[in-house]
Amino acid sequence: MKAEIISVGTELLLGTTINSDAADVALLLSEYGINVYWQTVVGDNPGRVIEAVRRAKERADIIITTGGLGPTCDDLTKNAIAEAFGLKLVLNEGEEKWLRGLWRERHYTSLEITPNNLQQVMLPEGSTPLRNDWGTAPGCVLEAGGVMVIMLPGPPREIRPMLEHRVRPILAGLSDGVIASHTIHFFGIGESEMEYELRDYMNSLTNPTLAPYAKNAECLVRVTASAPTPAGAEAMMAPVIERVTGMFGSLAYGMDTPSLAEFTTKLLIERGLTLATAESCTGGELAKSVTDIPGASAALKGGVVVYTNEAKSRLLGVPEELIAAKGPVSYEVAVELARRVRELMGSDFGIGITGLAGPDGDGVHEVGTVFISLADAGHVWVREKRLAQRGRQQVRLYACQHAFDMLRRRVCGLEITEEAR
Ligand code: ATP
Repeated sequence: MKAEIISVGTELLLGTTINSDAADVALLLSEYGINVYWQTVVGDNPGRVIEAVRRAKERADIIITTGGLGPTCDDLTKNAIAEAFGLKLVLNEGEEKWLRGLWRERHYTSLEITPNNLQQVMLPEGSTPLRNDWGTAPGCVLEAGGVMVIMLPGPPREIRPMLEHRVRPILAGLSDGVIASHTIHFFGIGESEMEYELRDYMNSLTNPTLAPYAKNAECLVRVTASAPTPAGAEAMMAPVIERVTGMFGSLAYGMDTPSLAEFTTKLLIERGLTLATAESCTGGELAKSVTDIPGASAALKGGVVVYTNEAKSRLLGVPEELIAAKGPVSYEVAVELARRVRELMGSDFGIGITGLAGPDGDGVHEVGTVFISLADAGHVWVREKRLAQRGRQQVRLYACQHAFDMLRRRVCGLEITEEAR
């Protein structure tokens, strides 16, 4: 099945609104194995919307439109669909009744609804309404000329629940079985390296399929299976997941988890372990990533941002002579940061990060040089990374990700490679 998404809205063409609706629709379609071949963006112009729909109905089996369902005169999607399919627009009585009720409830009034609002419940003849409990303009679904057209509202806070509660059941009814997927998360390996090592196995598979991709300095592999039942899909995926995970050993850290930060923080919370942080170039980003997770106060005792040499000495007592001799971006200072912040806060672990995020260097180190250190009661581990080509934000992100990786390795009793791949 081939799908086309048509997003209607001049604001999308002007670039003032990002077309997040199209991304949300595409993600849902991919879950059901429906290929999106085209995405069209068209302004609020009747002629051009009709032209876009005519073109789409010639080449796609499913058309999903976003936007242009509201009460104002630039809301013209349903008119354009009716015109392109040679249908009339008819008032849907069920939706009219619902909208009139909503109007009275919202406006606390006995005044009649204004006629332009009723435009929202005029649907192309033969279509089935999709109740919009998150706004006022209903969506609808139409089957005409061998094509299914699903019309959805534009505001993301409306279309997202509509996709979940109204469109998902329609798509589920279209396919004979289910499409299920799991995402395996890796840290410490790049996407191209992963793809290279997986290629032969990946090419030998047709169902389930494997798809590696990179996100937030992590590498992810999505395993997708199509089967008559959810249990069947799970059974097909299990050996593939085991094999892929086995191929990369401890580089795989979890499955279907939102992030390495969340995975590691939850691990600390579960085990009743605590952390303290001393950050220089990441400016508190590591502590912030931990505190983003609900319940983080059980894991994070506290953190300091020791950006200058003075702060490193005054707040943590790192000897001035050591900083002068080795430089603030050094193995030795990293060791002191982790060790001293751990002692200061009385936590199980201390993490130190010191580096040159760039773009300016210090004349000694290569820009992008970062030392990440982890201390527990008995030992301090340090990773030295050179992340020069990545730019300031990425250097900081990678530094935090390495810190979480070292921590989860220690907590899980895995070897902490000082030089991660
Ligand atoms: P309403 O009932 O609010 O009029 P509608 O279906 O008519 O809904 P539009 O008028 O086209 O939708 O858009 C309303 C708002 O929704 C836009 O101003 C924009 O902020 C947002 N929006 C519209 N289309 C998109 C899109 N494709 N992606 C993200 N946001 C969108």
